[in-house]
Amino acid sequence: MEFDTIAAIATPMGEGGIGIIRVSGSDAVEVVDKLYKGRKKLSTVDSHTIHYGHLVDPSTGETFEEVMVTIMRAPRTFTREDVVEINCHGGIVSVNRVLQLTLENGARIAEPGEFTKRAFLNGRIDLSQAEAVIDLIRAKTDRAMKVALQQVEGKLSQLIKRLRQNILELLAHIEVNIDYPEHDVESVTRNMLLEKSLGIKQEIIRLLETSEQGKILRDGLSTVIVGRPNVGKSSLLNSLIHENKAIVTDIPGTTRDVIEEYVNVRGVPLRLVDTAGIRETEDIVERIGVERSRKMLKEADLILLVLNYNEKLSEEDERLIDVIKGLQAIVIVNKTDLPQQLDFSRLQPLLTDSTPIVKTSIKEEEGMDELEKAISAMFFQGNIMKEDQTYVSNARHIALLKESIKNIDEFRQSIEVGMPVDVSAFDLKRTWELLGEIVGDTAGDSLLDQIFSQFCLGK
Ligand code: GDP
Ligand code: ZN
Repeated sequence: MEFDTIAAIATPMGEGGIGIIRVSGSDAVEVVDKLYKGRKKLSTVDSHTIHYGHLVDPSTGETFEEVMVTIMRAPRTFTREDVVEINCHGGIVSVNRVLQLTLENGARIAEPGEFTKRAFLNGRIDLSQAEAVIDLIRAKTDRAMKVALQQVEGKLSQLIKRLRQNILELLAHIEVNIDYPEHDVESVTRNMLLEKSLGIKQEIIRLLETSEQGKILRDGLSTVIVGRPNVGKSSLLNSLIHENKAIVTDIPGTTRDVIEEYVNVRGVPLRLVDTAGIRETEDIVERIGVERSRKMLKEADLILLVLNYNEKLSEEDERLIDVIKGLQAIVIVNKTDLPQQLDFSRLQPLLTDSTPIVKTSIKEEEGMDELEKAISAMFFQGNIMKEDQTYVSNARHIALLKESIKNIDEFRQSIEVGMPVDVSAFDLKRTWELLGEIVGDTAGDSLLDQIFSQFCLGK
């Protein structure tokens, strides 16, 4: 495909060090050559080489910037087009000026996600890989980054492609059966179809089973800290934030209506949501009732209930314990540096067996390790993050996989009740299409626009 030449700043704005301006398109080398002064013309150098030189504004003749220029010729580039990257000093003014110059000399400013979109349109990556680039930009933890990277590398795509291939083979069998009915292999075919389609279904289910963890890695666990006044909720929050600096990537051009703080607890990104002040609310249960507060807390993925080691269980504590019953919660008994007043033999029976109790003294920085262990054990059952595991984390992919299972089930049912196989085949064909949407084989323009508009500039 032929596209015009685009340019954008590829490094985060305002960060020191170096800035990179990326230019992609058939005129990329030519555009930069107009500005570049070095030992050789860029049009004459080998691909995938780096060149030192200066930038000169052709309209004034003024030399103004020391640069390193990387030349990468198509097709071995991210966009499969000629790509030139200009490394310059990182200040906003100079980076903007370099970008401006490329625009004055034949490039066009890239839209958000346009580099990745070209990689997709030029067949370099498929849609699930393009979506993973967004996840990569937004990744909160190393683990999330690894998951996204695997998807960028095409792990998920390969799996989906293999499943689609298996379905195609089944469809081919059905074709043969229709074309040569005299072979009378009808019943054999039916059994074979049932067996093979079950295998495909099970593989999709296995993939879906990773989605819960995949989503956690990608979006974080929305976490609420509850407890009555003065037990140490704010202290806990601060301690979590200070000890677990999360990678927080701000996405330019997007506004956030909730204040969210991410902390990284052993690979589990916690999103400490300040939902309607629940986090700091004093006795919500008494105020709005057990049922309503349970409903509110249910929306959280994790509840941290803080109790005071130095005080007897109060009615308010018991109301909160009642509310978290059956929800994903950890009970934190804080202030163990003070004398014990809390009666564990009274607390224990109020909780379900699966709710962990962790003792801490946030003041003395004790017990935080156990708390982190409890959080990570809850969501990763030990060391579950297998390096080679393919995780599904994208809501669009999850929806398509679920829909695929529905269609396979319908296919299997109609085979079982003895519908003509060519009629049943329709559902199987639909499954093949749905899986195709994940990798973008069957994606429409509006879907593409929607996906690529989530990118930030320069990607
Ligand atoms: P919140 O009202 O639940 O948010 O409680 P805060 O975090 O504001 O803490 C209330 C008071 O308890 C503050 O004076 C904290 O310094 C103190 N505190 C928090 N954790 C501990 C602890 O582990 N031991 C002791 N002795 N004091 C603590
Ligand atoms: Zn507080």
